[in-house]
Amino acid sequence: MNQWLQTHIEFLKGVGPQRAKLLRDELGIATFHDLLYHFPFRYIDRSQFHLIKDIPQIDGYVQLKGQIISVSETGTGRQKRLNVKFQDNTGIIDLLWFQGYKYILPNLKLNTTYIVFGKAKPYVNTWNISHPEINPATGNEASMGWQPVYSSTEKLTASGLHSKGIQKLIEGLLDLASKVYFEETIPPKLIRELKLPAFGAAIRAIHMPADVGLAQKARTRFKFEELLNLQIELLLRKSINLQKNSGQVVAEVGQIFHDFYENNLPFPLTNAQKKVLREIRRDIGSGFQMNRLLQGDVGSGKTVVALLTILMGIGSGLQGALMAPTEILANQHFVGLSELLEGTPVNIALLTGSTKKSVRKEIHAKLLSGEIHILVGTHALLEDIVQFKNLGLVVIDEQHRFGVEQRSRLWKKNTSPPHILVMTATPIPRTLAMTYYGDLDVSVIDELPPGRKPITTKHHFEKDRSLVFGFIRREIALGRQIYIVYPLIQESETLDYNNLMDGYEAISRAFPLPDYRVSIVHGKMKPEVKDYEMQQFVEGKTQIMIATTVIEVGVNVPNASVMVIESSERFGLSQLHQLRGRVGRGAEQSYCLLMTGNKLSADTKKRIHTMVRTNDGFEISEVDLELRGPGDIMGTQQSGNLDLKIADLAKDGPLVALAREKARELLTDDPRLEKPEHVFLRLEAIKRLQDKPNWAEIS
Ligand code: ADP
Ligand code: MG
Repeated sequence: MNQWLQTHIEFLKGVGPQRAKLLRDELGIATFHDLLYHFPFRYIDRSQFHLIKDIPQIDGYVQLKGQIISVSETGTGRQKRLNVKFQDNTGIIDLLWFQGYKYILPNLKLNTTYIVFGKAKPYVNTWNISHPEINPATGNEASMGWQPVYSSTEKLTASGLHSKGIQKLIEGLLDLASKVYFEETIPPKLIRELKLPAFGAAIRAIHMPADVGLAQKARTRFKFEELLNLQIELLLRKSINLQKNSGQVVAEVGQIFHDFYENNLPFPLTNAQKKVLREIRRDIGSGFQMNRLLQGDVGSGKTVVALLTILMGIGSGLQGALMAPTEILANQHFVGLSELLEGTPVNIALLTGSTKKSVRKEIHAKLLSGEIHILVGTHALLEDIVQFKNLGLVVIDEQHRFGVEQRSRLWKKNTSPPHILVMTATPIPRTLAMTYYGDLDVSVIDELPPGRKPITTKHHFEKDRSLVFGFIRREIALGRQIYIVYPLIQESETLDYNNLMDGYEAISRAFPLPDYRVSIVHGKMKPEVKDYEMQQFVEGKTQIMIATTVIEVGVNVPNASVMVIESSERFGLSQLHQLRGRVGRGAEQSYCLLMTGNKLSADTKKRIHTMVRTNDGFEISEVDLELRGPGDIMGTQQSGNLDLKIADLAKDGPLVALAREKARELLTDDPRLEKPEHVFLRLEAIKRLQDKPNWAEIS
């Protein structure tokens, strides 16, 4: 075992108790092992020299070779500084020191060749480098190779552990390690199969690379190692859950399901919906608890899958719950499901934050007696006071607003935890689904109901507004309805509100009574007023609905054929896609018009072009990941949980998939990681599972 690597960092030469404490508090480095796994985030090529004349074209660090032509100290007191003029054959640059140059000054000589290294910054008409590294040229520069750059913190820097200081510690450690035999942490079979560098070679190459190609190979190895350990953890969690949680068995789907399927289902299911239902059926009949993620694009028909799932359970005497992230959505589900369930013996109720106390009490009682079969609601469902007679199935709509903790609160609502189906509002990139939901099984609806015409998406600049209005008039003349959406972002609510109201006025002028009628909904309205306005639009009494993003997950109006998104540059990709999904629900050709100002950033252009180019939510989610990174997509709380040190979910997609595949193979072959070549994987897994203690241990 690499026992030696567990040595406390305090005992490394150059560390000591104080720096050890800092390293632990600031970077979580406690042992030799931790220090070696503090990888550089980039490298600088020290064998290449730049010319002073090229500096304006270089962003970042430069390395120069030349002579000092003057040395002067200027200013007094705190203004004191050392100014060195440095030249090569192409130009002159200023080198500046504001402090601590007492030791440097005596060594600076004219007519000597120096190597200078640092970050060049423009200053008035010249360029300068503050606090550069400066050393007399030795002639061996070509062999200096690549220098690693490490992340550090302010406190560490103050104690001398800036990137360079950390580099020194690591070099010292690797020096010591030359006498130690490193054991391989990845099973040798995988090392061979994937042609990865061995641990000992890789750990040197990543910290002290002879060339950048070797460093990259080493990085790939450590990324793979990290992802492999993560995937093993997730797969183990999944199997531990299965072992721990015997689920309620739905032995057969029952008469209620069959009757509904025959008599009430308004359309034939798509093949994708059927496939997913079979997967769910298998899970809930298996005797183990289901934990399944259902992914499907907007409009792919997830709701009816949720309902059918719950109906299967009702046949076995189980109650079901459907939880939505907002009241509007919960309401909509309740209304939609109630309609579908008309004429069936299934009782459904709605529970949200604004349910009246008396009604609430009645619901609580009827849940306990079993009279209510399906409860639709918001977070209000999670409250401890909400208890069921026999809760068996929980569907969570629009997953990523519910954390793992909330999921686990649901588990406690019955002695044997309910089956859980999580549905996402918008597709999640494959690699993110694999990691954030790696402990869940995943089903995908990869097909839209038939007869949908792809939505045509166009980008218009503000100056083309009259064109857009003309188009809207023609669509209304054809009997269609229009959405016009304005951004509403919390931080600037007042501004957005004014913006919305200005828009409302302008639209009302352009589309005047009595020919046109306009509805408006926004977050500052009383719920009754909002409902009234929505209802007017749903019933076709108004032709235009002006709204903030409240409609994002809200209404379903098949006759609406145009979605105009104002200030599109202020929306994220998944939001744009979600909004677009509000149209294209009827038989007519639908349109999405993205309005923007004239000046667009590169990111905005990419977002808009992606929307214009494709309707495929999975494809859009990949671009979104590329633009925003996983943290912004999943929310910081969830991404913080992962704590990846070197792998990057946005950039290392193929490696994530490979790690998942290999983790699966490995655990199929050795489910408890008992083989000697898996000892490191096993130790790491135990550590990871114990770090989050609400999960069982493997032993
Ligand atoms: P989402 O997956 O976005 O939640 P919904 O469940 O709201 O989608 O379904 C979108 C629309 O498609 C609804 O009006 C629903 O009734 C309809 N729908 C669902 N499945 C089918 C199907 N198999 N055939 C035709 N229409 C369907
Ligand atoms: Mg939905």
